[in-house]
Amino acid sequence: MGAEKPRILISPVEDFDDELVDRVAAEIERAFDFPAERLPLIDDLSFAHDPGRNQFHSTPILERLDASAPEHFLKIIGMTRVDLFIPILTHVYGEAQLGGRACIVSTHRLKEEMKAESTFLERVAKEAVHELGHTFKLLHCKDKTCIMHYCRHISDVDRKSGDLCRYCKILLGDEVKRIGKAGD
Ligand SMILES: [Zn+2]
Ligand SMILES: [Zn+2]
Repeated sequence: MGAEKPRILISPVEDFDDELVDRVAAEIERAFDFPAERLPLIDDLSFAHDPGRNQFHSTPILERLDASAPEHFLKIIGMTRVDLFIPILTHVYGEAQLGGRACIVSTHRLKEEMKAESTFLERVAKEAVHELGHTFKLLHCKDKTCIMHYCRHISDVDRKSGDLCRYCKILLGDEVKRIGKAGD
């Protein structure tokens, strides 16, 4: 009896255009070769709000997403419009549990310095794949065109491609194989 391929869950916190979520789903399926499904899990992030910074701490959101998602999902990616931070940084485009199940991407700062509407879709899809890459144990990559390159500035996001470099692809393949074996 062949087991069904595990799925990646896209969980929008607020309402997003179908066009954007479809693009994220398509890029996730292309990068990881797992089917993507969407299901909202949380709609109130007040537990993660930091009144001093007036931003949202991403780490407790990841824990909440992980705890709320049905067990059969391999990975969960949250999507939010709010501005996210971790204590050591002014803001983050997203955060992930390294080698874990949950990650999140924020669209808040991905609208900066936009050249075209399509730029926004591309940026969100890139950062979503980047964060999911961390859940598959991928680390930041020195290759500036690799999707796992760490971006400090929005121009870094625009410069990198939508793909993993050859090296990161091999590492991802190893991790996917390991997951497949563990699931047997
Ligand atoms: Zn990263
Ligand atoms: Zn790479």
